[in-house]
Amino acid sequence: MVNQERPDLLLVGLTGGIASGKSAVADRLAELGAVVIDADVLAREVVEPGTPGLDAIVERFGPGVLRPAADGGPPELDRPALGAIVFADPDARRDLEAIVHPAVRARAVELSRAAPSGSVVVQVIPLLVETGQADAFDLVVVVDLDPETQLDRLMARNGLTREQALARINAQAGRAQRLAAADEVIDNNGTPAELRNTTDALWRRLSAASPPQRPSHGTLRP
Ligand code: ADP
Repeated sequence: MVNQERPDLLLVGLTGGIASGKSAVADRLAELGAVVIDADVLAREVVEPGTPGLDAIVERFGPGVLRPAADGGPPELDRPALGAIVFADPDARRDLEAIVHPAVRARAVELSRAAPSGSVVVQVIPLLVETGQADAFDLVVVVDLDPETQLDRLMARNGLTREQALARINAQAGRAQRLAAADEVIDNNGTPAELRNTTDALWRRLSAASPPQRPSHGTLRP
């Protein structure tokens, strides 16, 4: 694991349900000085034209998952076409994940290694708990909110019906399972200003805890 190789970094895993406020927390932590590594961003990077990731996808799913690039460059991934295949077929979905997930993790390790000594490195991973990655981090932070508020924010952000939003929420780990993996819980039931204050307080604890001194948090893993 990276944290054994780089004891001079504090590695934080940031997760939470869809539309819980992970991006809002990560953006604020980045402003405050954290090195933020976002799994969703990496998942797009590792399948850009010219990557081994895109080559592997085309090999598995055929050239039908490519489309001409808007800028006239090499063909790019046709996400809706690939999405239609993998949502209808669990085996196809597993194959896609077997291509994308290792590439994302490898890139995240690479970026962590490049972080300056003493950094607080925050990896934003929507499915951190579902994919069993909690032990890879010094500290797991979960952004949490009431299910009704989550539903409202998801519907508003993505323009979804209640049913569509519920389907997306239900495809993820349950709230209790996520909370069980948390060392720190950020409550995002309040206003954006309250979230910012809570995040600033978290940052103060993280920066006080960043190596060589480790957090004295009771549930911190060794
Ligand atoms: P995630 O990255 O976890 O999916 P976001 O950070 O995108 O979640 O937040 C989900 C939506 O809720 C966004 O539209 C965001 O602007 C909004 N949001 C986040 N926190 C709050 C809050 N405290 N009050 C109101 N809206 C919020």
